[in-house]
Amino acid sequence: MDERGISANDLQTYCAVLAQEYFFAASLNSQARQAAADRAWFAIQRFYQNCTTGWKLDPDGKRITFTDGCRIGRLRLVGNKKQEIATFPIKQIKRVRILKRADGYYVQCAVNADRKVEHVFTGAQVGIDLGIQFFYTDSNGNTIDNPRSFRKAEKKLKRLHRRLSHTQKKSANRKKARQKLAKAYLKVQRQREDFARKTASALISSHDLIAYEDLQIANMVKNHTLAKSINDASWGRFLHWVTYYGAMQEVPVIGVAPHFTSQNCSGCGKLVKKSLSERTHTCVQCGLVLDRDHNAARNILNEALGRTVGHTGTNTPLSV
Ligand SMILES: [Zn+2]
Repeated sequence: MDERGISANDLQTYCAVLAQEYFFAASLNSQARQAAADRAWFAIQRFYQNCTTGWKLDPDGKRITFTDGCRIGRLRLVGNKKQEIATFPIKQIKRVRILKRADGYYVQCAVNADRKVEHVFTGAQVGIDLGIQFFYTDSNGNTIDNPRSFRKAEKKLKRLHRRLSHTQKKSANRKKARQKLAKAYLKVQRQREDFARKTASALISSHDLIAYEDLQIANMVKNHTLAKSINDASWGRFLHWVTYYGAMQEVPVIGVAPHFTSQNCSGCGKLVKKSLSERTHTCVQCGLVLDRDHNAARNILNEALGRTVGHTGTNTPLSV
């Protein structure tokens, strides 16, 4: 404990020193002394494995043993064969935790790794406007559809909520219904995450700068409907991954304040007031006619590039 960094070989050598100091050690043959050194070494190794990390992975990665005070013990790891945790050097695994999800228990390993992807410059800069009709509309007028799975999930969740509310309190049926609902939420969560990651990754890879409207999604909508909350959560996850991939590929991701992005003309800057239901921007001053969200996305890009007043600055770069 006092001298970390001592090796198995140091212990073997130390046996000879002990043999000179203690007659009972000297009376043993060298192999017997070595066996004692081996056992001591094994105990030292186990001590460090147990007390410094709280967990130990079998060399083949098929089982994990928790050695902290929670008495969880030894667990068999099943599941995705492509994600072999044993292929990571143990030293890179910085944290391990167990999560309970509606469909089982998961061991989550936080792996310390440098992820840097060489960005191929495209010369394209883009502003994006997150919306209800489309997942987003960009400043070139391209749109990304909301995945159909979101609508399907919404319907299913509604049905399961109804079913739960029709069961009796503390009944077995209520327990079952609650589990089903929890699993359905888990499924939406996973679909949303998958969609958010893929869409964000594609966006970053194909542009050299991204500007978005910083809506502060958490407090955006007060009267929550289910459809809304699914959308809000997917925007949140999407922006998270845009920032993440942006940092990884060193592509700037700029949040702009949401003031007047939909009301101003992206051609000449004139204020063109419109209600929420008006889908088209028509400017009487310069004659620009654009889809409402397309106009907003152009304003977002302009603002990020400092072409208008009210520029709010760059996001602090994330370390990945
Ligand atoms: Zn105009």
